[in-house]
Order: sequence, then C-alpha cells, then structure tokens
Amino acid sequence: MHEVALAEGVLRIVMDAARANAAVRVHTVWVELGALAHVEPDALAFCFDAVTRGSLAEGATLDIARTAGTAWCMPCSVQVPLAKLGDACPRCGSYQLQVLQGDEMRVKEIGIA
Ligand SMILES: [Zn+2]
Repeated sequence: MHEVALAEGVLRIVMDAARANAAVRVHTVWVELGALAHVEPDALAFCFDAVTRGSLAEGATLDIARTAGTAWCMPCSVQVPLAKLGDACPRCGSYQLQVLQGDEMRVKEIGIA
C-alpha cells in the first residue's frame, strides 16, 4: 500500500513547516491530489490518521482536493482534459494519449495553532 509512504511524506513536510513556525498543533492539512494519481483518497486519509498518531498533527483533518488531469492526444494534436487513467480522448475517442499532468500530489497549505 503506497498510501502509507505518501502519508509519511506528507507528515514530513507538515512537521518541517510546523517546526519552522513553532506550532504547537496542526489542525488541518490541505493537499492537492491529481485525478490520475494511483491514490485512493480514503486510503490516504486513513494512513494519514495512522502516521500522525503521537505527533503534533494527531487528529488533524486531511483535506484532499482532486485536480483534473491533462493529456496530449496524438491524433488530435491537442491537450485534452482527462478525468481518469484509461479514459479515451473526449474529442476523438482515441486511446493514444500521453499524460501531461494530474498524477502528482502536493501539500498546499497547513493550518497550525
Ligand atoms: Zn483525440
């Protein structure tokens, strides 16, 4: 389950930011998750709960925003939106698509006290 590794990565970023800001508690963590990332938001939230236990971020809310994916359609020679991996081009129905963005995850903001 690679959501555990991702959750640990999020926690590292959160802890660095919390320390830099002399925070006593982290109450919310906002992350952006690309629609094409192989990550289950529910699984990620579950893992985040587990890895933050005993840390400043224990009990913090993980707010996951899904961001749309973008792909390059070879037959159309244009960028097209892609809701999920395995979808066809919305213009021509082709599967000759190259993912440009949407498979990344990043920590956007951290709510501290
Ligand atoms: Zn196309």
